[in-house]
Amino acid sequence: MHYKLEFSLYKRNFKQPLKTNHGIWNIREGIILQLTSKTGEIGLGEIAPLSFFGSETLSEALNLCHQLPKEITTETIFSIPDNLPSCKFGFESAWENIKQVEIGEKEELKHPNFYSALLPGGEAALEIWQQLWQKGYRTFKWKIGVDQIQTELEIFQQLVKELSTEINLRLDANGGLSFEEAKQWLEICDNLNIIEFIEQPLPVDKFSEMLELSNYYSTPIALDESVANLSKMQQCYQQGWQGIFVIKPAIFGSRAELREFCQNHPIDAVFSSVFETKIARKAALQLATELQPNLRKNRTFGFGVTHFFDQDRENSGRSRNFESVFV
Ligand code: MG
Repeated sequence: MHYKLEFSLYKRNFKQPLKTNHGIWNIREGIILQLTSKTGEIGLGEIAPLSFFGSETLSEALNLCHQLPKEITTETIFSIPDNLPSCKFGFESAWENIKQVEIGEKEELKHPNFYSALLPGGEAALEIWQQLWQKGYRTFKWKIGVDQIQTELEIFQQLVKELSTEINLRLDANGGLSFEEAKQWLEICDNLNIIEFIEQPLPVDKFSEMLELSNYYSTPIALDESVANLSKMQQCYQQGWQGIFVIKPAIFGSRAELREFCQNHPIDAVFSSVFETKIARKAALQLATELQPNLRKNRTFGFGVTHFFDQDRENSGRSRNFESVFV
């Protein structure tokens, strides 16, 4: 099959900059792809790289789009190299989108308790969590490893005091803790019953230390940056990781290869967003929903991030007109 390829860049401002241990993030940029078949069927895809997480950069992704001919084949899509994982996801999504009618459209109807809502960092979390609770969210994630540990522990104690006991709280350090700080957090979390897991407490090069922590403490540890793409996940799996894997489908790589991995390895995993637009969000959630039954546990999807953007700049998502996708 031959498809006409069109693409366009998009930029989206965060309502408030997102602060993590990786730094401050103000603008989400990516590429929207459109494939058109000979018979006029259209498939949309999105390339949403996260280079500080180990994916290709936006300019590397853009280079690929410019280098490809105006008309591509299925073979072109499945021969994108592994060092362009977001491109692999974007092109495969567009290709799958052609074969389906309105993928993931039902996703819009899901209740917020289906998603984990990301809280803003620091003290702002104390102000916002109730609004999100009222919207129906029951799982929250809060970033740590951004400020001094004493400051964060103080806010955390207050947050835990305020939160309803029905809530699951996820903590995400983005690799920003030292071994001693990680032990301090895990000890505290072991004495609470609302912490679902701590995500990426230590940097990527501290795998054996995280393995040690996961064997010692009862609070589960989730690897995120360490398993940003398929080959990294395979490595950690082979090195004996029994904890949680965070899978960000939009930067993970081939959809087909992720399917194959999940079908053959019953892992404990959480699917998570990279602040993509509706195009990749639908494609990622559709894949997550499909793969969830293969997983060891049914964990809430980490896609409760739409409150970080102004919704009115997006279209309804119903239109398949390329031009109407916000840019
Ligand atoms: Mg994370």
